[in-house]
Amino acid sequence: MGKISAVIIIMLFTLSSHSALAQWHKKSFKVMGTLAHVEFWLDDSVPQATADKLILAVEQEMQRIDQTMSPYIATSELSAINRDAATKPVIISKELFDLLTDAHNVAVLTHGMFDITYASIGYQYDYRKHQKPDQTTINNALKAINYQAVTLDKSSSSVRFTHADVKIDLGGIAKGHAVKNCIAILKEAGIEHALISAGGDTTLLGDRIGRPWFVGIKHPRAEDKTAVQLPLSNESISTSGDYERYFIEDGIRYHHIINPKTGDSARNVVSVSIIGKNPTYVDALSTAIFVMGLQQGMALINELPEYEAIIIDNQQTLHVSTGLQQD
Ligand code: ADP
Ligand code: MG
Repeated sequence: MGKISAVIIIMLFTLSSHSALAQWHKKSFKVMGTLAHVEFWLDDSVPQATADKLILAVEQEMQRIDQTMSPYIATSELSAINRDAATKPVIISKELFDLLTDAHNVAVLTHGMFDITYASIGYQYDYRKHQKPDQTTINNALKAINYQAVTLDKSSSSVRFTHADVKIDLGGIAKGHAVKNCIAILKEAGIEHALISAGGDTTLLGDRIGRPWFVGIKHPRAEDKTAVQLPLSNESISTSGDYERYFIEDGIRYHHIINPKTGDSARNVVSVSIIGKNPTYVDALSTAIFVMGLQQGMALINELPEYEAIIIDNQQTLHVSTGLQQD
């Protein structure tokens, strides 16, 4: 009894001494059609204005990436590519060139299951309006879905499509990239403990002062419920689920993760989380492994020592990669 209260008192003391010297700064905001969150620990000797400036810098960075990569903004670099790259090489920023290179690498790694040209059919779905393309439209669009039709020329920093109907979309990779850039902003400012998330993409810098961060994976069929809580530090985690953007017609769920081989929503699993060090790669990989499904997807992750996976199959059973299994 005496021992326990001593522990509690020490804990209280630790907590209060921390809060006297430093504090957590946090903000949630809407960007890229989703909710983003920033949270970091800053010494109290640093003026509040510095924290406010950092939060603003993070918000502005996410907005900037949205302005560059959104398919809905006519002036975005992405829109310019989709407009012109089928007829001539389009010169793009180093940032976008590097991201397209990452997207290409993940496409190769996942045998084309991650494929930004999925957009050739993806743009025909409107989940809010419950609209989907008919089979003839899908069949025609499938000819334009091929990541190899996006050719990158490093010397001129340009991109070109080798098929007339190709369209690209970065929805499966841009949020990871945004989180990565924002963490870099905080790191550069000397921050050592932070969490940044955009939708299902989260990166943790350091720990939560002597204990890990806890990141929840949403319950795929019960809104506001958590399926699992994971203790994580210095890691990135990305979750792709079939419950974010979807509609149900004749008992079939049409959602925003598309199998590039069929042009239809992928339905082998309901939630995939990938853990690793690189926010951009875990984002793209969670989308790709979702398409690959449990057997193929888990087999791939088990071959890659830098990544772990938590997959919820469509019977709502949870599966984890070998690196997460306790012996
Ligand atoms: P969220 O956008 O909800 O965070 P994901 O990271 O799983 O979820 O990304 C899903 C998005 O990825 C879709 O909204 C779409 O923009 C894009 N996408 C869908 N299917 C593919 C695919 N096979 N390859 C690449 N990107 C895809
Ligand atoms: Mg993703």
